Amino acid sequence: MTGRILVVEDNPVNQAVVELQLSRLGHQAFVVNGGLAALDALQAELGFDVVLMDCQMPGMDGFTATQRIRQLESTASHIPVIAMTANAQREDRVACLAAGMDDYLSKPVRVENLQAVLARWIATGRMRREHNPRHDLDDLPAVDRQVLDDLVADLGGDPSVLAEFTEIFLRELPRRLEAIQAQLPLDDRREMRERVHALRSPSRALGLTRLDAICDRMDQAAISGRLGDVRSMERNLLEAAAASVEELCQLTASVANTG
Ligand SMILES: [Mg+2]
Repeated sequence: MTGRILVVEDNPVNQAVVELQLSRLGHQAFVVNGGLAALDALQAELGFDVVLMDCQMPGMDGFTATQRIRQLESTASHIPVIAMTANAQREDRVACLAAGMDDYLSKPVRVENLQAVLARWIATGRMRREHNPRHDLDDLPAVDRQVLDDLVADLGGDPSVLAEFTEIFLRELPRRLEAIQAQLPLDDRREMRERVHALRSPSRALGLTRLDAICDRMDQAAISGRLGDVRSMERNLLEAAAASVEELCQLTASVANTG
């Protein structure tokens, strides 16, 4: 899946590297060298799929630029903003999420990481635009078998790894859900996002599409400060988690029987 990518980066060498990487991956790159120019580009044109955002820039930095982008957007959906950060320590990741970014890439950016992150976020951005945010959750599959098949293929083709991943996921799931539920009554969008991300990341890795989608909605609501909306999604979250557990268990049981 290729897309139109807005690159916000002040360093000419980094600009050239990312531009070449994007072109090799088949993406269209538009490069601007600061936060203000990024805001201008986004307001002038709506067709961007993803923003790749340097954090440290003279003038308006990437954090401020992202906060401005989020302020200008409607609350219904937003463009994915991926930070490019020189030191992806926990504090930096937290700062990126707090500013309203969706994900982060460590610099120097490796082309395979860029490819994976863009594939994920171009798809997510299009899903956000195409689906009515309220009514389509039940239409999404609890488990996307293709993601699991690809995962097994990438790891050498032995399907027994699925049982292992599923076991880890199921062991962690109650704790992840409890962490989110404990946070629901509190008024801290940054911590809410951290906890939702902790569930979303493994859900996405295992192709749990419905759980991924509900986490994405909770995250978008938290970014926009709509914590009441986050709370209202608790039941959807638990239902999606239950459906994921059921299908994962069936799937691993059938793999064990045939293998
Ligand atoms: Mg910079």
